Amino acid sequence: MNYRDKESNTSVLINLIYAPVLTLGPGIRIGVWFQGCSIRCKGCISKHTWEFDKKYKKTIAQVIDQINYYSEIYNTKSITISGGEPFDQSTSLYTLLKKLKELKFNDILLYSGYKFNYLQKNYGDILKYIDVLIDGPFIESKKTNKIYKGSNNQRMYILNKSLSQIYQEYKKQLKNKKLQLITKDNETYLIGIPDIDFSKKFSKNLIKKL
Ligand code: SF4
Repeated sequence: MNYRDKESNTSVLINLIYAPVLTLGPGIRIGVWFQGCSIRCKGCISKHTWEFDKKYKKTIAQVIDQINYYSEIYNTKSITISGGEPFDQSTSLYTLLKKLKELKFNDILLYSGYKFNYLQKNYGDILKYIDVLIDGPFIESKKTNKIYKGSNNQRMYILNKSLSQIYQEYKKQLKNKKLQLITKDNETYLIGIPDIDFSKKFSKNLIKKL
């Protein structure tokens, strides 16, 4: 792509960008995982994304280039952003989301360990670019059978009402153990949200879980 304005040089720590993602939201999606999380929930299955490690540094332009590449290949404008904790890099997140909306991405689902009320109070300018938010930390003792939740305390907020029908349907789906195992750049990743018992069994495995 050709744009190289000032905002595109903003840096961001990103663990992984991958498509097709079939297990984190409706339809065929592009997945973007931020690197770095200060929340650090007990039992988190994505501990490898906790450190704010500079080796994961990219510019927003590089991230957008990769997203556009996948968007063309898979003919999708649907994205799931997770982590790590995206709001721990709020300036970069704002810049990325603004660009994605300029590029007509029309289904941006974001997972945050912060609660909706906190985000609304502190990051209203970012929330306006998010179509669907799933909020709250992972709480190991709160089991759930819902496909989109890691633990039962988490809630889905459909902020873009034009997506209500599709997400209301998605919300009803139960976990069916469907996970994606992928390799990229010599690393192996498990994509999706396993149930809590499954997570515990695999918590000592060498594979990374996203
Ligand atoms: S579940 Fe999410 S918010 Fe909680 S520690 Fe893991 S990456 Fe951070």
